[in-house]
Amino acid sequence: MKKILMIGTGGTIASQSSEFGLTPGLSTEELLSYVPKVADVCEVDSIQVCSIDSTNVTPDYWKLMAKAVEDNYDKYDGFVICHGTDTLAYTAAALSYMIQNSTKPIVITGAQRPISNDITDAKTNLLESFIYAADDDSQDVSIVFDGKVIVGTRAKKERAKSFNAFTSINFPHPAIVQDDRVIRYIPTVPFKDPVKFYHEMNDSIFLLKLIPGIQPDILPYLFEHYDCIVLESFGVGGLPTTLTDEFYHVMKEWIETKGKIVVMATQVVNEGSNMTVYEVGKKVKSDFNLIEAYDMTLEATITKLMWLMGLPTMQYADIKKMFYTTVNNDIIFTKNQPDI
Ligand code: ASP
Repeated sequence: MKKILMIGTGGTIASQSSEFGLTPGLSTEELLSYVPKVADVCEVDSIQVCSIDSTNVTPDYWKLMAKAVEDNYDKYDGFVICHGTDTLAYTAAALSYMIQNSTKPIVITGAQRPISNDITDAKTNLLESFIYAADDDSQDVSIVFDGKVIVGTRAKKERAKSFNAFTSINFPHPAIVQDDRVIRYIPTVPFKDPVKFYHEMNDSIFLLKLIPGIQPDILPYLFEHYDCIVLESFGVGGLPTTLTDEFYHVMKEWIETKGKIVVMATQVVNEGSNMTVYEVGKKVKSDFNLIEAYDMTLEATITKLMWLMGLPTMQYADIKKMFYTTVNNDIIFTKNQPDI
């Protein structure tokens, strides 16, 4: 039987009612006691790295989770992390960068309802996560939720209440779990390089979501205080004229002389950016050699930049090249992307 390590972090799955609202309280052992069938699937040990609502997850918690996997990597065949759903997509993306080329599966799951509720998705999600983690062909970081497997860099929480909370963005489901078995749609490609753990995440990054009529006065402040700014633009990507003058002013000062990073992303969840289509995007992109997020999720874009900025002495050109290097299927290249 495979040996799987369960790593508890809190979230609704482990929550109980209190006078202040739902709050995580159940330990990993208590969670397991609700799903005795797991014992038929694999041998499980469990540890608890924290017990928090995932609203409170920060990069320091990702380091704790990655360390729990790293410290136990040789002892187990796979890992199941129980996590709140609110920031689960960020954690799955962050761990995809912090733990690369893992031939052992690292499965992240959670639930929309506490495991102690009469009606809950928690028991199914937990059991199916163990089934997937114990499968011979599973590897790398993935989410198992509502019967579907989602690549760690491709998830987005799109529903606040329903059991099908997560959608896979711009990438197919590699597998589903049905009738207690894994049905794989995408064959597993074995890694050539050994597993690699990264320990730093630089969180000096700000996401600016554009709205119609946005005023430019915030730009100098952002450029002064953050190493990286992600602009969440409209459609395939562009910069509104209200921002252009100030943007050129701060970009000249900060990007050229102080090595700040600016990445263009889009508010449109599906199909990704292409700044070269419209005049509002094409010029600014070429004037400043901007990086763009293309088909990546926002969660992957943000956490990939945190990982890249955490690497020692990276120049802008290195960051750009590595940003455009695929990790755990996070970015797909097409011939519309000439800068890659
Ligand atoms: N607020 C909870 C959390 O993210 C929601 C959930 O787990 O579904 O921890």
